[in-house]
Amino acid sequence: MATVEVDQDLCVGDQICASMEPEIYEMRDDGLAYVVDGMEEIDDDDLIAAAKDAADACPVDAIIVEE
Ligand code: SF4
Repeated sequence: MATVEVDQDLCVGDQICASMEPEIYEMRDDGLAYVVDGMEEIDDDDLIAAAKDAADACPVDAIIVEE
């Protein structure tokens, strides 16, 4: 199991995570990224890997994936 969070105080809204993994991350009206409802805790290994890939791609380290 992993928890996924986005720190909106750090996010610069470049949409990288939402473009890479729209199942997990979405852009909202404030122009910032959020974890899609229901994806704050994930069990599936492929989803966890995807969440981490996006975290690695985030230029400001705003995504936290903890196992
Ligand atoms: S990749 Fe990082 S900075 Fe870009 S939208 Fe996602 S959380 Fe925000």
